[in-house]
Amino acid sequence: MCIGGAGAAGIVLARQSVQSKLGVIVLESGGENLEAEQQALNDGEVVDGVHPPAHLYRQRRLGGSTTIWGGRCVPLDEQDFWKRPHVPLSGWPFDRSALHPFYESAQTLLEAGVFDYSAATALRGVELVEAFRDPDMLAEGLERFSPPTNFWKRYRAELAKSAPVTVIKHATCLRLSGDQAVTGLECAGAGDVRFKVRARAVVLAVGGLETVRVLAHSGYGNHSGMLGRTYMCHIEAALGQLRLSPANRGVQFGFERTNDGIYCRRRFTLRPERQDALGILNAALRLHHANVVDPSHRHPVLSAIYLTKKLLIPEYARKFTVLEHEAMRSFRNDVGLWLGHIRNVTFGAPQLAGFAFSWVLRHYLAYRRIPYVALPSAAGTYPLDFTGEQAPNPESRVSLARETDRYGVPRLKIDWRPSELDWLTLSRMLRELRRSLEGCGCGTVEYDEQRLDQDARASTAPMGGHHIGTARMSESPSAGVVNADGRMHDVDNLYVAGCATFPTSGQANPTLTIVAMALRLAQYLETRLGG
Ligand SMILES: Cc1cc2nc3c(=O)[nH]c(=O)nc-3n(C[C@H](O)[C@H](O)[C@H](O)COP(=O)(O)OP(=O)(O)OC[C@H]3O[C@@H](n4cnc5c(N)ncnc54)[C@H](O)[C@@H]3O)c2cc1C
Repeated sequence: MCIGGAGAAGIVLARQSVQSKLGVIVLESGGENLEAEQQALNDGEVVDGVHPPAHLYRQRRLGGSTTIWGGRCVPLDEQDFWKRPHVPLSGWPFDRSALHPFYESAQTLLEAGVFDYSAATALRGVELVEAFRDPDMLAEGLERFSPPTNFWKRYRAELAKSAPVTVIKHATCLRLSGDQAVTGLECAGAGDVRFKVRARAVVLAVGGLETVRVLAHSGYGNHSGMLGRTYMCHIEAALGQLRLSPANRGVQFGFERTNDGIYCRRRFTLRPERQDALGILNAALRLHHANVVDPSHRHPVLSAIYLTKKLLIPEYARKFTVLEHEAMRSFRNDVGLWLGHIRNVTFGAPQLAGFAFSWVLRHYLAYRRIPYVALPSAAGTYPLDFTGEQAPNPESRVSLARETDRYGVPRLKIDWRPSELDWLTLSRMLRELRRSLEGCGCGTVEYDEQRLDQDARASTAPMGGHHIGTARMSESPSAGVVNADGRMHDVDNLYVAGCATFPTSGQANPTLTIVAMALRLAQYLETRLGG
């Protein structure tokens, strides 16, 4: 068997084949470290003006994007697998129970503890917001954090020890050849030498964008016209602010450790029946620390974050959220803003030094890192972070550009498009959270009701690094690219691994499900190909 790509999906497949004793060649375009020449193969054309440049949020190297990922693990929910009448093209060919055993094993590979995402059983005591009760808005859900596992560093020794697995680095898959079945894989190796690999079965695990490139360039996978379509990234947005009622100061903010020692955070989600009633997608809301722009938070660490981002990261300065813009407008000129932050940093210098010391210990020097900065708010207000499902939209697509790379392979053309359902989900989730908080007297959510839909539309952005749905799975060959096993509908020995195959994105970050699906595919291949 030949696997293209040594990211999370490719490495899991190769590792499983050790047990099944299948002979495996893994072809990885990159080397041990990021090399400019190989990374340049990820360059592409972005025509929508919103999607990040094609080379960003992807790594052409052993381990793929797990060399830089954030480690957030969340499984898909039951309803993500359902055919929902208000979500066009929704529905997986199987339900979540089919993935359950693989999710359990995936947890172990991701070093994310047991498969338990409920605060009621995975954590002790306290609630996200004290005394919060609502039949529809749920506050028990968790996200767990992997250390984060770099799949190459973590599993390379196991692969190296196993005779049936050969990993070839600097080997770029250019084109598949064959007809009814794939008979060969044309590749470019170190020094740009060309070679061909023959295998009984080929699995493309090259990431959600490159999958389209290799397939389209080879003339495979577009029997239904769906190859590269329904490209989804997840929607991220920062809009609205939770304000606790003066009587209710109890909020569980920041990172906790589960009973099995894993960093985790709590989140608000909506019961599936209520999502259906409102006609919206799946989504989650998290509490964020106080708005860093406004120095009235009087926090030296938040001011230091603002100053660092403003002065050192030009990309951040262009991406201020609605709340951050509002905070800036409340200052008549920049002088007041700068002075406020400089005052916070100066008077809070000892606190800042203490934080910096503990951060270096807990983030940079620990194997299991605290994932990011989350500081409680003295004022009882918390900006809200939204992560939402993106509706499958055939107009959101990845195709081949005219320009070619140094091997003569056409580059990618990315045209990412959100749809109305995406931003309606954000505004309706905020209204629901306000209703539920006010209903139990815990607080409210502040936003401009007159402008909410407009602000929601302006706030939604694609989440970098999630490349979903470009080779979607379907029961019928006319509706997708691969079948329920991940095999190309019209080719007997060609498979796709990774979130390109997901028909819908859910609100969950993809890697846990990518690993679970790779384990499922490995089991299928073991049976199909024999030892
Ligand atoms: C900054 C960042 C933060 C993230 N945070 C999270 C998070 O918190 N939680 C989460 O779930 N996900 C997160 N992700 C997404 C996560 O990293 C990806 O979902 C996951 O790594 C995808 O794994 P993969 O194996 O499918 O693809 P990739 O990791 O892209 O691996 C594909 C591999 O194929 C190789 N390749 C590409 N083309 C070819 C070719 N033609 N021939 C041979 N080899 C090729 C590449 O070099 C690469 O090694 C994040 C991503 C980024 C960038």
